[in-house]
Amino acid sequence: MADPLLFNPGTYDPTHFDPETRRLLRATVDWFEARGKRRIIEDYRTRAWLGDFLAFAAEEKLFATFLTPTSAAGADQDDKRWDTARIAALNEILGFYGLDYWYAWQVTILGLGPVWQSENPEARARAAELLDQGEVFAFGLSEKAHGADIYSTDMLLEPDGQGGFRATGSKYYIGNGNAAGLVSVFGRRTDVEGPDGYVFFAADSRHAQYELVKNVVDSSKYVSEFRLQDYPVAAADVLHTGRAAFDAALNTVNVGKFNLCTASIGICEHAMYEAVTHAQNRILYGRPVTAFPHVRRELADAYVRLVGMKLFSDRAVDYFRTAGPDDRRYLLFNPMTKMKVTTEGEKVIDLMWDVIAAKGFEKDNYFAQAAVEIRGLPKLEGTVHVNLALILKFMRNHLLDPVAYEPVPTRLDAADDTFLFAQGPARGLGSVRFHDWRPAYDTYGHLANVARFREQADALCEFVRTAAPDEQQSRDLDLLLAVGQLFALVVHGQLVLEQAALTGLDEDVLDELFAVLVRDFSAHAVELHGKDSATEQQQAWALGAVRRPVVDTARAERVWQRVEALSGAYEMKP
Ligand SMILES: Cc1cc2nc3c(=O)[nH]c(=O)nc-3n(C[C@H](O)[C@H](O)[C@H](O)COP(=O)(O)OP(=O)(O)OC[C@H]3O[C@@H](n4cnc5c(N)ncnc54)[C@H](O)[C@@H]3O)c2cc1C
Repeated sequence: MADPLLFNPGTYDPTHFDPETRRLLRATVDWFEARGKRRIIEDYRTRAWLGDFLAFAAEEKLFATFLTPTSAAGADQDDKRWDTARIAALNEILGFYGLDYWYAWQVTILGLGPVWQSENPEARARAAELLDQGEVFAFGLSEKAHGADIYSTDMLLEPDGQGGFRATGSKYYIGNGNAAGLVSVFGRRTDVEGPDGYVFFAADSRHAQYELVKNVVDSSKYVSEFRLQDYPVAAADVLHTGRAAFDAALNTVNVGKFNLCTASIGICEHAMYEAVTHAQNRILYGRPVTAFPHVRRELADAYVRLVGMKLFSDRAVDYFRTAGPDDRRYLLFNPMTKMKVTTEGEKVIDLMWDVIAAKGFEKDNYFAQAAVEIRGLPKLEGTVHVNLALILKFMRNHLLDPVAYEPVPTRLDAADDTFLFAQGPARGLGSVRFHDWRPAYDTYGHLANVARFREQADALCEFVRTAAPDEQQSRDLDLLLAVGQLFALVVHGQLVLEQAALTGLDEDVLDELFAVLVRDFSAHAVELHGKDSATEQQQAWALGAVRRPVVDTARAERVWQRVEALSGAYEMKP
C-alpha cells in the first residue's frame, strides 16, 4: 500500500484540487512515466535541451494555466490563476522527475515576477500572450562580477530621448536565456544616481542586439550568459523604475524561492523509493542490509526528516496565500522553506547515500542525479547565509513578542494569490509580528520528544532575553548564524506541529521526528559553544541547552515498519 505521506505516481490523484488542476497535474505525471526512466536519465546525462517537455507543457497550456494571474487572463479563462498550492504540487512532481525540468519552469516564474508586479498593460498583455503560446521566461538579475550584491549592477540604460533607453551590459547565470520569449532584466540609468536610477525592463532573447554568449553550466539547464549591446528598450518594455524596480527584484525572489522546498521534497521522495528498495533487497551475510541497526536508524531519520520537510512546506503555503499588508509572517516562513527545508533535503540524501553506497553512483538510477541536484537548492536564490541572516531579523519578535491573529486555515482553495504581486516595499522586516508559537507545541506536549524539544525552545527564549549578542557581537555573522540555526529549528518545529494537527499525523512519526530535532538543536548548541566570540555566559547556556531525545524502541520499530513498506512501493517505468 502506498504511504499517504509521500508522493507516489502510481496512486497520485490530487482530488483536493479543481478538475482542470487535477487533470494537468496527473497529465504531467503521465508524461514523465510515458517518457520512461531510461530516456529521462539519458537526457540528463547528455544534457539534452528540454524541448519535448516544453512542447508537452505548451500543448496542455500547463504554464499558461498555472502562471497567469486572474487579472491577466482573458474572459472565459476560468482555470487561470496564480495559486501557490497547485504551483507547489507541480514543483514536487518536477523535482521528482528531474531538477532540470523544474528549473525551466522555475525561472519562468522568476521572469514573470517583475511583469505581474508591473502596471505596464502592454507588457502584461504580451506576457500573457507568450504564455499562451507556450513560451518560457527568464529573470536577468545576476551579473558575473557582483553575486548577491545586486545594488552594483553594470547593466546600463542610456535615455534615447523618446521615453525609452539603449541598454548595454551583460548578465550571468540566467536560466532559459537561450529560449525565453521575455527576459526581465534589471539595470540602472546612466543619467540618475542612486536607487532612483534602477530599471526593470522586458527584453526578447531573439532580438538581434541580444547576444547569447554561452551556457555557463554543463547541464540541460540553460544557465546563460547574455550580452545586450545598444539594445532598444521602448517605453512599453519598461516594467519598473527607481526603488520600485529594486523592490520588484526582491519581491520576485520572495515568490520564486518558495518553490525550492517542494522541488527538494520531490527529489528526496524519488531517491527514497530507490534507496529503501535497494537496501531492503540487498542481502549481505545472509540478511538484508536493513537488518543493521545503523541502517535502520539512517533510513528512519531520512524518512521522518522528509515528512518534516513536507509538513513545514505545506503549512507555509497557507501563510503564503493568506499574506497581506497586515500579515507579513510569510517573510519569515519563506526563507525558512528556502534554507531549512532544502538543507534538510541534503541531509535526507546524505543519510540514504551512506546506506546504498555504490548503488548511488550507478548511471541507471535516479539517485545519482538526486545526489548532485539536491546540493544546488540551498545555494541558489540566496545562499543559506543570506537566508539565515534574514531569518534572524524576526527572532526577537517571533520568540518573545507574539500578537493575536485570526487562525489561518489550510489553503487549498482555488484562489488567485494577488498579494504576491502587490507586496509593496521590501523594508520594515523588524516590525513584522507573529502569532504565539507555543500553542502548537502545547497541542503535542504529551509526546515525549516534543516536550523535550520545547525545553530547548524555552531555553532559546531565555538566551535571547539574557545572553543575546551585544552590539559588537552583532557584527560577527559567524556567531549569529549559529544562533539563527537554533531559531530556525524552533520555527520549523512550530509549523510541523501546526500541520500535524491539521492533518492528524501519526504521532509515532511526529515523536520520532522531534527526537531528530532534539539532536539537531543539541548539535547546533555545541556549535555555538565553540564559536570564537561566544562569551562565557553564552558558552554555559549552550551546553546547558543540550538534551538527549527520549528513546522508545517500540515506537521506533513502528516507524521503521512504515519505512520498510516503501520497498517496492514505486519504480519508474523503464
Ligand atoms: C544553476 C544556477 C542558476 C541560476 N539562475 C539564475 C537566474 O535565472 N537568474 C539570476 O538572476 N541569477 C541566477 N543564478 C545566480 C544565483 O542567484 C547566485 O548564485 C546567487 O545570487 C549568489 O551569488 P553567488 O553564487 O555569486 O555568491 P556571492 O554573492 O559571490 O556570495 C559569496 C559568499 O558570500 C556570502 N554572502 C553574500 N552576501 C551576503 C549577505 N548579505 N549576508 C551573508 N552572507 C552573504 C554568500 O553566502 C556566499 O557564501 C543562478 C546560479 C546558478 C549557479
